[in-house]
Amino acid sequence: MALTLYNTLSRKKEPFKPFDPANVRMYVCGPTVYDFAHIGNARPVIVFDLVYRLLRHRYGPDHVTYVRNITDVDDKINARAAEDYPDLPLNEAIRCVTEKTEQQFHRDVAALGCLPPTVEPRATQHIAEMTTMIETLVERGCAYVAEDHILFHVAAMPDYGKLSGRPLDEMIAGARVEVAPFKRDAMDFVLWKPSMPGEPSWPSPAGIETPGRPGWHIECSAMSWKHLGETFDIHGGGIDLVFPHHENEIAQSRCAHGTKVMANHWLHNGFLQVEGEKMAKSLGNFVTIHELLTGWQGYAWPGEALRFNMLRTHYRQPLDWTHVGLDESHKTLWEWYGDLEGKEGGGGVPGPVLDTVYDDLNTPKAIAALHKLHSSGKWAGLRAALNLLGFSGQRANIRRHAGAKNKARGGSRAEVGSDAGHVDRLIAARNEARNAKNFAEADRIRAELEAVGIVLKDSAEGTTWEVAR
Ligand code: AMP
Ligand code: ZN
Repeated sequence: MALTLYNTLSRKKEPFKPFDPANVRMYVCGPTVYDFAHIGNARPVIVFDLVYRLLRHRYGPDHVTYVRNITDVDDKINARAAEDYPDLPLNEAIRCVTEKTEQQFHRDVAALGCLPPTVEPRATQHIAEMTTMIETLVERGCAYVAEDHILFHVAAMPDYGKLSGRPLDEMIAGARVEVAPFKRDAMDFVLWKPSMPGEPSWPSPAGIETPGRPGWHIECSAMSWKHLGETFDIHGGGIDLVFPHHENEIAQSRCAHGTKVMANHWLHNGFLQVEGEKMAKSLGNFVTIHELLTGWQGYAWPGEALRFNMLRTHYRQPLDWTHVGLDESHKTLWEWYGDLEGKEGGGGVPGPVLDTVYDDLNTPKAIAALHKLHSSGKWAGLRAALNLLGFSGQRANIRRHAGAKNKARGGSRAEVGSDAGHVDRLIAARNEARNAKNFAEADRIRAELEAVGIVLKDSAEGTTWEVAR
């Protein structure tokens, strides 16, 4: 049975051939740790956990190295730290934010049935590798120093843009990015930038005196180099990372190491939306993994139901996350796990299931095969297939509870729901905004209420509200 994977680099499905079957190597871009992970962030974690499990199944658990980094240096982290801990020195506040967020992330993804990666490197522990790579790039003429910044010069790499299919000359011609005056080309990107006093900083490479900090892209090039080598087998992430993040990782790594590829196979998951709309805080449909596990639309959902709901859609397709779909996913598992109680296990994963998941992770088709195993009473096969996909098969693990509270920022449903005066005041403010034709403000207030579970209904008689179910 061949394992085939779609490769963003070649835009087709290709047989997977590792450099070394005794040491299969995969890198996936991990979270920037400043806030709760949302259900969209869960998608790459689950998808690449499945890839990891398939590789372990095929090559043996000791022959696969999976690296997923933690980005713990980033301007968004600095901003959040200053906001949440205004009384602490910035570096201490940053430590509070990153440690708390990282622990929460680990709890969340463990509940989704994801194995810990082999290595989980932190950016701040790889500054030495980053500065080494940056100095090599400067020495080779692929990067230059300008006003205490170090920039990668894209024109130094003739096939820059191959992954995203954007030829360099077109990009330069059509560039609409704001151009810093010290950039040679609009597309040149930051490898290193100066820090203000008080901001996280390290001694700068390439003879710059002002201390500074790395750009985002170089972090992944450095960490994958350290833990997987100059070239490796699979690089993954969400589709939004293709450009510029992965394109820039490729440019840095290939130019620093003088290699033809960074990774042979580039895998990208499609985007997730919620109830038919792009997920956004301003739309009030933003939902974190933690909320789903502790209370979303009235229920605390078991992590396995979230995982199953994710895998019902092919990983490259857009996914619409809905309450109805989640409920169906939970019911299916509940039925299967109940029927599996007391049945004999043992035996391998049935061929049709393995065939479909080895065919570019066709999980919807694999799940159809699981339904067949269930309806024909092939209990051992059903259990083995569930285990391969990361499911326990135990009813005790998938009890659904009434969600006590919905911990949106700013309060729980119960608190806000009981403070009707507060809701009425916001509705009055929204009406004022609407009368003044300030629809952006009116929408913002609607979203603020939705975020805490209050739904507004407009009619000819005026606006009423109810607690969302
Ligand atoms: P970010 O926190 O935005 O850096 O994202 C972390 C990971 O989650 C990246 O691999 C993103 O591509 C992925 N991601 C973010 N939003 C979504 C979404 N709505 N659907 C699927 N993947 C997403
Ligand atoms: Zn990355």
